Amino acid sequence: MIATHPAPTQRRLHSAGEVQEMLARAEAAQQAWSATSPAVRTDCVRRLGEVLRARRETLSRLVTTEMGKPIVQAEAEIDKCASACDFYAEKAEEFLRPTIVATSFDESYIEYDPLGIVLAVMPWNFPFWQVIRLLAPAFAAGNAVVLKHASNVPQCAVAIENAVLSAGFPAGLFRAMLIPPDAVAGVIADPRVAAVCVTGSSEVGAKIAGVAGTHLTKVVLELGGSDAFIVLEDADLGHVVGEAVRSRMLNAGQSCVAAKRFLVHSARLEEFSELFVAAVRRLVVGDPWDRDTDIGPLARPDLVASIERQVSESIAMGARVLVGGQGDRVQGSFYPPTVLADVRPGMPVFSEETFGPVAAVTPAADDDELVAVANATNFGLGASIWTGDLSRARKLATRLEVGCVFVNCRVSSDPALPFGGVKDSGYGRELGVNGLRELTNIKAVALRQPAVSPPGARPGARRL
Ligand code: NAP
Repeated sequence: MIATHPAPTQRRLHSAGEVQEMLARAEAAQQAWSATSPAVRTDCVRRLGEVLRARRETLSRLVTTEMGKPIVQAEAEIDKCASACDFYAEKAEEFLRPTIVATSFDESYIEYDPLGIVLAVMPWNFPFWQVIRLLAPAFAAGNAVVLKHASNVPQCAVAIENAVLSAGFPAGLFRAMLIPPDAVAGVIADPRVAAVCVTGSSEVGAKIAGVAGTHLTKVVLELGGSDAFIVLEDADLGHVVGEAVRSRMLNAGQSCVAAKRFLVHSARLEEFSELFVAAVRRLVVGDPWDRDTDIGPLARPDLVASIERQVSESIAMGARVLVGGQGDRVQGSFYPPTVLADVRPGMPVFSEETFGPVAAVTPAADDDELVAVANATNFGLGASIWTGDLSRARKLATRLEVGCVFVNCRVSSDPALPFGGVKDSGYGRELGVNGLRELTNIKAVALRQPAVSPPGARPGARRL
């Protein structure tokens, strides 16, 4: 039976004084929380998963209302959050157990102590998942969290706070701070804040890392991506094309690990492009409340303008529209699912992150060229490889400059696997054992048995 808790209500931004009060309460709550056992903490994490499941309908409706995600995909997001809670409820105790290390000392081990208060700066594209995937391990590790969520999903932020309270976490351990971006630097500067975890664009990540650097505050950066979807000549296109469409078009393409650049072996380029375009044409664009809708609106009108610029500049540089593009533009915040051919490095749809339903197709002649083109980007989040030859895929995986490689499956975040990037996609990891330990003080403890001085020895007589 899940306790109900009155929903926190907030109709205006929090003041600087309220933020101070939240930090003071978070500090007090964290001190008590860190003294509890991991078993107590993981119990609450498990209950958080139950609360999310029990509120699935209400929460998914909030997602669709605030950022336009088709309702079926919003429900899947809530399910995924609950699974992440289950995962950490089951695994966190094991991950937090000290690791014994063989050394020249009599005993040595690494313990994983809480950090304190973690500031989470989060995006709107998966307004529950991005937050819950941080909260579950952060709480299990004994931390408090204060959240600055994206401005266009305030109700999701408040609903998360309410769910955390209902799950039985101590009051004050988690707060959704409704503050503007320019108030974030002040929170980072507060000595009570031990770490800041940012999920967002590379530009914002760089700004926040700069502020955190000034205060020597730990940072984890989960930033933008432009993942390659690499199709080798032996791939089964019947299967691959459906996955290519899902990987690019889910959430209207507004995902950091969406496949954005389709790098196709020249021998299969024509066939792949034809099948891909046919599958994209079948997508249902429309009302996000309709359960048959594949693609809803983008989350904000300015995002449409940004995609339009990237597409039109790429066309001016030689890209060719196979389907979609500006001519097909639907009204409001909708952007038509689009496939561009003849895309080369340097075009905006290749070099920038496209945060919308636009696929860029680029041919490559062999494995060396595929790797070179895949790595010809400032981003380094994920990549997928599609082939019948796993040993070739393993060799290619090693050569890719990314945080994760998926073979014959779409890049996704799995609670058991570390998630994060290299290059402009950020540093540090979330999820898995690495993600949990990222939120701890990894403390080395080395012990020797007490020495017994020989009779008559002079105190401190040993040489340096
Ligand atoms: P964003 O514009 O970078 O904003 C992210 C968060 O930072 C929001 O809460 C935003 O608040 C805040 N913010 C903006 N400017 C700030 C500043 N100067 N100082 C402090 N905070 C600031 O990103 P978004 O548009 O919300 O999300 C899309 C981006 O997130 C994409 O680049 C996507 O790839 C990335 N992303 C990465 C991952 C990953 O795991 N690697 C996952 C999901 C999304 P306001 O909303 O109030 O501006």
